[in-house]
Amino acid sequence: MSEETKKKMSISALKRDNTKRINSLPRGENHHTWKKNPDHLTFHKRIYRKLGKASQHKCVDCSKQAKDWSNKKRILTQKMEDYEPRCRSCHMKYDMTDSWKKKIIKNLKRN
Ligand SMILES: [Zn+2]
Repeated sequence: MSEETKKKMSISALKRDNTKRINSLPRGENHHTWKKNPDHLTFHKRIYRKLGKASQHKCVDCSKQAKDWSNKKRILTQKMEDYEPRCRSCHMKYDMTDSWKKKIIKNLKRN
């Protein structure tokens, strides 16, 4: 199965599950921030669109309210099942690499 086909299938599955929410948000390739190879932060935003906010879940480590989606493998993957909700502090302990920390800091300064 081609990557393109997989993507189409996941998008149509998503529409079935969550049509109202999806319709109210910018969509996939039409969205101006869409990238073929998204960086970590961009991909996290895409996860929010697919899985909802991490804050609707409990942190898998400490059971407090989660804040972020963190990747089980600590690398960027396109698989939603690789992501777990974590609170900010457990997330940082779990998977923040130096390069990603720099991005976060950059992002915070911008806001
Ligand atoms: Zn936690």
